[in-house]
Amino acid sequence: MTFVHTPFPQQVVVEVTAACDQQCVFCGRTYMDRPKKTMRPDLFRRIVEEIGRESPQTEVWPTFMGEALLLGDRLFEWIRYARERGCSKLTLNSNGNRLTQHTIDLLVDSGIDRFILSCDGHTKATYEKIRVGGKFEKLYGGAELLLETMRRRGLRRPIVEMQFSVFDENQHEVEDFKRHWLARGVVVKVRPKVYWSGTVSGGEHRVRLDASRTPCLWAMDTCAIHANGNVVMCAIDCEGKYVAGNVETQSVQEIWNGPLRWIRELHMRERFRDLPEICRRCTDWAVKKAQAFFPSKESRSEYEAYVRRGRVLMAGDTVAPQDQAEHFTPDGEVARSEKG
Ligand code: SF4
Repeated sequence: MTFVHTPFPQQVVVEVTAACDQQCVFCGRTYMDRPKKTMRPDLFRRIVEEIGRESPQTEVWPTFMGEALLLGDRLFEWIRYARERGCSKLTLNSNGNRLTQHTIDLLVDSGIDRFILSCDGHTKATYEKIRVGGKFEKLYGGAELLLETMRRRGLRRPIVEMQFSVFDENQHEVEDFKRHWLARGVVVKVRPKVYWSGTVSGGEHRVRLDASRTPCLWAMDTCAIHANGNVVMCAIDCEGKYVAGNVETQSVQEIWNGPLRWIRELHMRERFRDLPEICRRCTDWAVKKAQAFFPSKESRSEYEAYVRRGRVLMAGDTVAPQDQAEHFTPDGEVARSEKG
């Protein structure tokens, strides 16, 4: 696979808050020492102003570690501001435990294009064992209320995606989870567990490393910003083991084309031994992959149009190398095969 340097990251993950109301057993945030701060509004504004000006099609994720809905109504003011300043691709993920009618109305009116709900269990027992502090009824009840609201108002956005990260404790519930949510007309994403660069132990699901290491797709496409403005190695660097710069005093573009460009270059040249320690020891480069299941071909087309918009494609490719996933429609067709 051939990679190119993009002048601006294709995705920017912004930690609006590192606070969370759950202590999920698999999440790097549960174990991290870094202060669980909230970003200053002026810093958030500065970041999205640059994205809107320089690269409006960059996908902006106003979440990194932490639960963005803890910010309450403020979050939606921030998202609306990002939209007004030109950010045209906004994706929010959430643990979905705070979806009241009030929050849902603000959410669907904010301009969010894609809303991902992290579920990771299809029964109360499994869900609450894994997502400690979470309430199964709140997640499932909130998701139903969101879908009902969208139906009532005739809304097609945001694209709602129910996500299930697979590991030992929940793998037996994947098929029921898929059936349940596909029947309700939403996208289902099934993905391997991320190990947060070794912060969380892998158990039997730990990826086995062999000689066939490949350049990391996280490094290639994503710029991740902590609540204090630190731009870190990638979207799994929860602790900030490698800090490439800080957006208080530098632009995203400057950092992306500075220290992070050199990191990408090392990945592209497969000089893995010369990478900073966090990358050398990491196995998460092997799990930036997922399977997406769609209730219909129309929903798949709509989803693909969204995720591919503005993505950099290589000659002869139909998907960006950074955008690796298998897509399945109800007839079993694999719409897009993983490449490379
Ligand atoms: S190898 Fe690991 S630490 Fe390095 S960029 Fe990829 S996911 Fe991040």
